[in-house]
Amino acid sequence: MLERATSVLISGFVGVLLAQPPPVAPPKPDSEQVKALIEKAKKAGGAVWAEEAHFFCEAPRANSPNDPPIEPTKIFDNVYVIGNRGTVAYVISTSSGLLMIDSLSPDQTETQLLPGFQRLRLDPAQVKAIVMGHGHADHFGGSAYFQEHYGSKVYIAAADWDLLEHPPVGQGKGKQGPPPPLPKHDQVIMEGQPILLGDFKLRPVAIPGHTPGSMGFIFPVKDNGKTYMAAMYGGTILTPGIISDEGLQTYAKSVAHFKDETKKARVEVELQNHPLMDPIQTKLDNLKNRKKGEPNPFVVGQANYQRFVDVMAGCTAVNIARRKGV
Ligand SMILES: [Zn+2]
Repeated sequence: MLERATSVLISGFVGVLLAQPPPVAPPKPDSEQVKALIEKAKKAGGAVWAEEAHFFCEAPRANSPNDPPIEPTKIFDNVYVIGNRGTVAYVISTSSGLLMIDSLSPDQTETQLLPGFQRLRLDPAQVKAIVMGHGHADHFGGSAYFQEHYGSKVYIAAADWDLLEHPPVGQGKGKQGPPPPLPKHDQVIMEGQPILLGDFKLRPVAIPGHTPGSMGFIFPVKDNGKTYMAAMYGGTILTPGIISDEGLQTYAKSVAHFKDETKKARVEVELQNHPLMDPIQTKLDNLKNRKKGEPNPFVVGQANYQRFVDVMAGCTAVNIARRKGV
């Protein structure tokens, strides 16, 4: 009896011990080789992308539910942005209704997404299509609501439909709250198959790595009637720690592919769904204070767009080198 009581006591005690967070090993200082790769990435970015290089190479962080909301804003003649400093959705007006890229987290439908439509005097019932950068809940969160209430078509790459319909065991463990509402299986995004809505054409580029079905998008935006090509890398790895070795290698190849495609398309507008490394609030402030004739702050130019992607590539090389322990 005593023995049993002791063992219960001990297992109870072990349980308490295991409930504590495991001790965090101090990060290994970067080797000279890794430091050289960081310098290379910083040089590729130059002054324009210094903050991006610091974020991706040295101080990455995940988006957070506490990221402060942004003022819902019309950033181009045909593009609106809604969300917060960590995660945003874009609404694009076309000749046949609205197309939305991403849809924030499920708990932000009522607090940020729909109020954003109201603020911008946009009718959510006009959203004909929602196109997801990838199949995580902070991107598809509002899509089930729009599908159910407004009949919006939901587009996700096949591999990420699979991911959200059959999440890997253990995913979401430790997260609070109910599971996210899933959109009903709908349209599939594929590279080589543009998504058309009225006069608007969005070109998907497959960029697996963050998830198997991550997608980048290339599409035209208009500023005071002038057309520019914009791109959004819809599967940016914010915190490399959670990605497998294979995932990082795949990501490196995808970044190179995206560089090729955006170069060919002469992309000169940098848009993000997690605008942490290229802070959106600064751009919105600049847009608000923009004087007649000044450039739109989201237009960075073709050369700078390529440098932005070079920094992503450079810091991915840094993360791969760190992983290899060189
Ligand atoms: Zn994600």
